Amino acid sequence: MKISHIEHIGIAVESIEKALPYFENVLGLKCYNIEGVAGQKVKTASLKCGEVKLELLEPTSPDSTIAKYLEKKGEGMHHLAFCIEDGVSEALAQADAAGIRLIDKAPRKGAESLNIAFLHPKSTVGILTELCEH
Ligand code: ZN
Repeated sequence: MKISHIEHIGIAVESIEKALPYFENVLGLKCYNIEGVAGQKVKTASLKCGEVKLELLEPTSPDSTIAKYLEKKGEGMHHLAFCIEDGVSEALAQADAAGIRLIDKAPRKGAESLNIAFLHPKSTVGILTELCEH
């Protein structure tokens, strides 16, 4: 697969509203988009930090994977997302062939209409890894 850059860093938060003042007022980053991703039962806030985006993830339901993550580990870094130049489907096939455990067998729609797919942290040195393409 061909990675062009880190597309974003996902950060799990209890509340976007409560987390934003830190990112905006202390770090001086600007939130430019807040949206719900119904399929994943989360609300996301996007902040630009140079070429990289920070993606705050707030659960919208107790059975959201983010809610479960917060329960287990608390707030903090959740995943790392790479921008794949030659397509997520192809990258998934390559990861699968390399014996990497896939969370998604096929790309699905994430925040900002990106095509996304996750690799399991058990296969990726503990980092929940998202592959995405615009
Ligand atoms: Zn993400």
